[in-house]
Amino acid sequence: MTTHAQRWQAALMNNYGTPPLTLVRGEGARVWDAEGRAYLDLYSGIAVNALGHAHPAVVEAVSEQVRTLGHTSNFFITEPALQLAERLQALLGRDDARTLLCNSGTEANEAAFKIARRTGRPEIIACEGAFHGRTMGALALTGQPAKRAPFEPMPAGVTHIPFGDVAALDAAVTERTAAVFLEPILGEAGVIVPPEGYLAQARRITAERGALLVLDEVQTGIGRTGYWFAHQAHGIVPDVITLAKGLGGGLPIGACVGFGAAAALLEPGQHGTTFGGNPVSCAAALAVLDTVAAEGLLAHVDRLGKEIRSRVEGLGHPLVGDVSGAGLHIGVGLTAPVAAPAAAAARDAGILVNNATPDRLRLAPALTLTGDEAEEFLTALPAVLDAAAAQHEGQGN
Ligand code: PMP
Repeated sequence: MTTHAQRWQAALMNNYGTPPLTLVRGEGARVWDAEGRAYLDLYSGIAVNALGHAHPAVVEAVSEQVRTLGHTSNFFITEPALQLAERLQALLGRDDARTLLCNSGTEANEAAFKIARRTGRPEIIACEGAFHGRTMGALALTGQPAKRAPFEPMPAGVTHIPFGDVAALDAAVTERTAAVFLEPILGEAGVIVPPEGYLAQARRITAERGALLVLDEVQTGIGRTGYWFAHQAHGIVPDVITLAKGLGGGLPIGACVGFGAAAALLEPGQHGTTFGGNPVSCAAALAVLDTVAAEGLLAHVDRLGKEIRSRVEGLGHPLVGDVSGAGLHIGVGLTAPVAAPAAAAARDAGILVNNATPDRLRLAPALTLTGDEAEEFLTALPAVLDAAAAQHEGQGN
């Protein structure tokens, strides 16, 4: 009999390494594999399924939109795209926000990169450890040299500085700087929170020198941190933000939102994509935004995130170093490089968590995760960590 792994190897490019599971169904925070085994999904597609799998509001909105009007060309406007841009303005509290719709986080960052180029200034600052995507422009911004190396030369002009370091930022930003790209919290690097005041200082420094501040909220946006957008916790207004992931509640969508003058830098004909603003993805996004508001999920995310973080800290397990994050954007630093075996042990226990780095686990569950589901994770965690520690010791460490 042909296994899923064999079929996968014979048909798909191996771009993410061997996938451990073939998933066939999802509901809320639960997914099922091809053998019918259930898992508590604390990845949610890396912060994608904001409302969990198959949320009725998204299913309804998408079905209705597919029946009513599917994709048109970008030369026509559709009501869902217009409504989505208006909703983002309202949630951002900015009438001068203008949205460019695309299909992914990477693409939203490509748009922001082009906006930065349109300032006429040659240099861009981004951070070590940051992740902004894998197409050439977004990859050039990504602060992980090993990801860039196989694809050199990169688009020119990007310098990486340490994340969270105000002095480094102050030294790097000059009148030649077009833009500073920042994740409010580093996601792929394992949920690294910058020191208090860092984003406010970044806003001050960029404004003083006429550089754009671009915040990549692909992972932190849409309620993930307990705010609609993570920067709202810092009382700042950036020039551009990029969104994707949770915005579509499982459907592909990205958005590059510019404020004020930054929104006018791209001229007609300079950027676009066939599926950008397609009404089906926009209808899904509107359903997500409506539901996050209607179900009071920002407060829920804040409360449950605090509870999970303090309980993981409170375990006092020797393998737990630091617990980081905001809302349901949670990182668990391990005192040994055993994140991969810990994620495997969790999977064996029916729980999906992400080993973001060799020594950091990451949780990015649905914003609708219940207290009982969180409890299930917290109950299983000590044995999962024990199994990872045992494996580490077994290797003679
Ligand atoms: N920016 C950040 C902060 C991300 O975490 C990611 C994806 N992990 C991206 C951009 C790229 O988004 P996408 O995979 O949708 O292209």
